[in-house]
Amino acid sequence: MKKLFLMILLICAVSQSADAKKPKQQKVENIIYMIGDGMGLTHVSMLELENKYAPTSFDRADNIALTRTYSANNRVTDSAASGTALATGYKTNNGWLGITPEGEEVESIIAKAEKRNFATGLVATYAIQHATPASFYAHVKNRGDYTNITKQFMSSNIDVVLGGGIKHFERVFREMGMDFQEELGKKGYKVCKTWGEIQQQTSGQVFGLIADDNMPAIEKRQPNFLADATAKSLKILSNNVKQNKHKGFVLMVEGSQIDGRSHGRDVAGILGEMRDFDKAVRVAMDFADRTPGTLVVVVADHETGGLSIPSSKTDFTLPESGIGYNFGTSSHTAALIPVYLYGTGAEQVNGIMENTELSWKLQRLIGVSEK
Ligand SMILES: [Zn+2]
Repeated sequence: MKKLFLMILLICAVSQSADAKKPKQQKVENIIYMIGDGMGLTHVSMLELENKYAPTSFDRADNIALTRTYSANNRVTDSAASGTALATGYKTNNGWLGITPEGEEVESIIAKAEKRNFATGLVATYAIQHATPASFYAHVKNRGDYTNITKQFMSSNIDVVLGGGIKHFERVFREMGMDFQEELGKKGYKVCKTWGEIQQQTSGQVFGLIADDNMPAIEKRQPNFLADATAKSLKILSNNVKQNKHKGFVLMVEGSQIDGRSHGRDVAGILGEMRDFDKAVRVAMDFADRTPGTLVVVVADHETGGLSIPSSKTDFTLPESGIGYNFGTSSHTAALIPVYLYGTGAEQVNGIMENTELSWKLQRLIGVSEK
């Protein structure tokens, strides 16, 4: 009897210490928010099919979800309203950035993270004033208001910004009788006008807009710009986190031009942009592999083109029927949008949700949400 009692005691002690040794669930410290503008499920299907089903970075996803994209005033969203939804967690009217239909200015995950001691960054292949990147720092009722969007960037304190749109900074500051480089310098930015200058940066505040307006199309762009800019931003942000004791970072990377090529019903252009975005996603996922605490979220703001991949024939007894690419529209569609999650916390985001709910889930994961 005494022996049995001792044995039970021993078993209890062993199981308790095993419990104590069990690793705690890793906290999400870094979010890499990757947005393929206009990228629907069929765009990803095209990429896989054209790569002859060789694994893409999308195939690495640990988890997936679906989002509904309708805006506050339209069943078919534009990039301003859907960007605002993904950035802030609020639906708004098409064309509006960072303001609710009631006129309230709302903060993005990047703005909140910045205030709560995270490092932050934006990378795009369009101008940084374009709807998707601007939805992370601007508050305007007209997405075309580049003057105010540019001015509002100055109060964002975003650590790293890589993409296009330098001519708007030049103009806006000239009109105010100021020199934009001097003003950015006062804010602590190292202003880089070429990729070579960006290459030399390894930490600190980096302002690297290397195109007057949008970056060139994929055929004319510096090869791998998006993947290289993603890698460079991750390097700078992770160094900033170490040097400044930040809690982590939030980086938004946009494959901006998938949308434009889809508006243009341009199959080769879409494929080029999808392959480019796929490479950037790979860079982000590889970073997550070697950096525990990093969650990669790959999503789109909406689908563009009503792209479909129909069989060329109706007789499916044939060994191969051939395929085509059809476009249902030159505009956006109301289709559900897939979300691919990879890394720490991926298991915590799944199901079918509003685009706004995705934003809140991410804000909660890094502890910047008030909801
Ligand atoms: Zn569009």
